[in-house]
Amino acid sequence: MCWRDPDSHKIIAGFDASKVLSDVDGQDLRTHCYVLQDLDELMLKEVRKYGGEVEFDAEVVGVGQDEDGEVGGRAWVEVKRKGGEVEREEADYVVGCDGANSIVRRSLFGDQFPGFTWDAQIIATNVCLLFSLLLFWAWLGLTWKQQTFYDFEGKFGWHDANFIVHPENFFVNNMYRITYGETPGLTREEYIARQPMKFQQMLPGHPKPDEYKIVNISPYKMHQRCAPKFRVGRILLAADAAHLCNPWGGLGITGGFVDVGGLFDCLVGIWENKAGEDILELYSEKRIEKWQTVINPISQENFRRVSDKDPRTRFERDEFMQLLKKGETDDVLLKDLLLGFMEVRYDFTQHYKVR
Ligand SMILES: Cc1cc2nc3c(=O)[nH]c(=O)nc-3n(C[C@H](O)[C@H](O)[C@H](O)COP(=O)(O)OP(=O)(O)OC[C@H]3O[C@@H](n4cnc5c(N)ncnc54)[C@H](O)[C@@H]3O)c2cc1C
Repeated sequence: MCWRDPDSHKIIAGFDASKVLSDVDGQDLRTHCYVLQDLDELMLKEVRKYGGEVEFDAEVVGVGQDEDGEVGGRAWVEVKRKGGEVEREEADYVVGCDGANSIVRRSLFGDQFPGFTWDAQIIATNVCLLFSLLLFWAWLGLTWKQQTFYDFEGKFGWHDANFIVHPENFFVNNMYRITYGETPGLTREEYIARQPMKFQQMLPGHPKPDEYKIVNISPYKMHQRCAPKFRVGRILLAADAAHLCNPWGGLGITGGFVDVGGLFDCLVGIWENKAGEDILELYSEKRIEKWQTVINPISQENFRRVSDKDPRTRFERDEFMQLLKKGETDDVLLKDLLLGFMEVRYDFTQHYKVR
């Protein structure tokens, strides 16, 4: 992972995690760059392997629960399936993982989602290949690399994740995803029309549109927001439904994973009689604390770093970048620094009555 100068694209600071995180007490703790739709498929496979079911075309239109503390109380969602009536599905708990506009969160807190929206516009483009396109290209006898993504690695020696520091043309690229800053207030069509100009301006080699293939392009607004609580009775919140941060540094999906991992341990604890329901209150408290002390400050700093008004002097003012520089020749320091990000996790099993 590295931060680069906007003109020369030379590395300002960076690190090679394989040096220090490939084997930490037998665990490989390196960050993994993965295309989102592949990650979705992987997760779907895992859920099904353990007997979980995922229903598509089923929209939650309402959420409710019995009075708090009622013995045998239940929670429910009202579900509208394609072409069907609204039906109620009941369970011991409902966990809202329904993204930034979560209806589950709204059912608990209305429009209350404290935090702020950045006065900045970002555009996310994917330059990876969809399966149908791959087949089509294979049929035409063309190779993946010629036709799909811009060859950052082979041609320019770029690494897996590259952050370009610039007040307007900041961007991140990890081979398939290029996300960059844009002028706020334009229409979707205007952003799409400006994309070739932006790539030509920003990317190494200043490519013209016939040198790469865009699979999709989406303008996004960035937010820093956290719900007041992640638990109200039998209803819980996790991931983007519970909190949002800007995407610089990958703390969005990471924050979601650690919520869900922690909540899993809490629910298993209750199921196996190792923990009381009060562990869910702890889930809310500790996950909010981690958002406030780790995810929110680090992700804000990540965005300020890439969008710095004066990229050329950023290094002199940036303690983190300076530490990375020292870490180039000091593995112990680099390992400590990178393991610091693991602080985002919280082990709820330490609160089990029986371990
Ligand atoms: C431009 C951009 C770049 C990003 N890059 C990164 C990155 O590099 N690394 C990283 O870690 N994170 C990144 N993120 C953040 C990451 O995408 C999110 O944090 C993550 O997708 C959140 O997962 P989620 O499951 O909580 O929500 P979502 O991915 O939004 O999924 C919510 C799901 O709930 C479904 N749903 C919604 N409402 C209902 C309803 N009423 N009924 C039924 N289903 C419903 C939706 O269809 C969707 O499938 C990025 C975000 C943006 C915007």
